[in-house]
Amino acid sequence: MTECPICGAEIEKAADTVVGELLECADCGTELEVTSLDPFKVEEAPQEEEDWGE
Ligand SMILES: [Zn+2]
Repeated sequence: MTECPICGAEIEKAADTVVGELLECADCGTELEVTSLDPFKVEEAPQEEEDWGE
């Protein structure tokens, strides 16, 4: 269990969570990347600007 770095909500680690996995905070909807499993840590996922062209 860790906290969302954005809103502080609790983030639960699933049994099959792996480092690099993207999770979504249920509270604020921020995309979070798992950076460590033991201890469980998440960071805000880099915002990739999709360039869909014009
Ligand atoms: Zn959050």
